[in-house]
Amino acid sequence: MLRFRDRVLPKILSELVALGFVFFIIPAIYIFELAVVLPAVYDGKKEFDKFWFYFHSVCGTYVMFNVVGNLIGVILVDTSVKHLIVDTKMASSSAGWHYCSFCETLSPPRSWHCSQCNTCILKREHHCGFTGCCIGYNNFRFFYLFLAYLFLATIYATYFNHYYIWSQVIEFEWSHILRIVMPLTILFFGIDTSFTQLYFFYYSITMIGCCFSGVLLYQQSNLAFFNQTSWERDKGTNDHDCGVMHNIRDALGRRWHLIWLCPFLQSPLPHKGIKWMTRDQVPLEGTKNK
Ligand SMILES: [Zn+2]
Ligand SMILES: [Zn+2]
Repeated sequence: MLRFRDRVLPKILSELVALGFVFFIIPAIYIFELAVVLPAVYDGKKEFDKFWFYFHSVCGTYVMFNVVGNLIGVILVDTSVKHLIVDTKMASSSAGWHYCSFCETLSPPRSWHCSQCNTCILKREHHCGFTGCCIGYNNFRFFYLFLAYLFLATIYATYFNHYYIWSQVIEFEWSHILRIVMPLTILFFGIDTSFTQLYFFYYSITMIGCCFSGVLLYQQSNLAFFNQTSWERDKGTNDHDCGVMHNIRDALGRRWHLIWLCPFLQSPLPHKGIKWMTRDQVPLEGTKNK
C-alpha cells in the first residue's frame, strides 16, 4: 500500500518556482494544441478533417492524463524511510545497513540521506529539482512513466507545432530563428508580446522538453534494466542485477506490463525496499522474485 508524503510543496524557493512552472506549462501547451493548433491544422477544408480533429484531441487528452497523473504520483508518494519499523538487532548485523547521523537512525541498504528532503530515501536515485522531491524505490514507477509520456507528448506536440507555426509564416526571416532560440527574452523585454511570439515560446519549450525527457528516459531505462542507481553506476557497483525481468519488477512493480495504461493502476512492489537480493541469489534469468 502506497503511503503519501506529509509535506508536498518544496521548501526551497527555486524548486517551488520550478514546480509552479511545470504545472503552468503542461496545461498551457495542452490548451494551445487543442484550441489553436488542431483547429488550424484540421480546418474542415479537407475530407475527414473533423474525424482527425477528434481523434487527435482524444489521443492528446489521454497522453496528457498520463503525464499529469504520473507527475502527481511522483510528488505524492512517500519513498522515505520515515515510516519503516526497524528491527535494530537484525539491521545492525545485516550487510548494507548504515547509521545516518542526520536521521539518527539505522538506514537500509541502498538508501541515502537527502539534505533537501531531510530524510533518508529508499533506493535513492536523485533529488528532482522540478518536483522538489526525491526519486526513490516507491515513486520510481511514476517517475519513469512520467518521463515516457512526457517524451511521447512532446514528440506529438512538436510534430503539430512545426506544421502549424511554419504554415503561419508567409516569408522566412532570420529573426524567426531568434524567436525560437530566445522566446522568453523577446516576450519579457517587450520586443514582441503578440500571441505569435507566445506560440514560438510553446514551440521552443516542447522541443526542449522532448530532448530533455528523451535523454532522461534513456538514462533511467538503462539504470532500471540493470537494477542500478546513478550513484552505484558512478561507483561502478552492480551487485543487484538479477536479470532483466527481475530488475523490471523491482523497479516498476509486479504489474509493470499494465502501468502504462493508467497512473492509478496498482502495481505492488515485490518487497519493502530494505532487503535486496544479489545476483548470486538469483542464478537463473527469469526466476520469480518473491
Ligand atoms: Zn538520513
Ligand atoms: Zn530529496
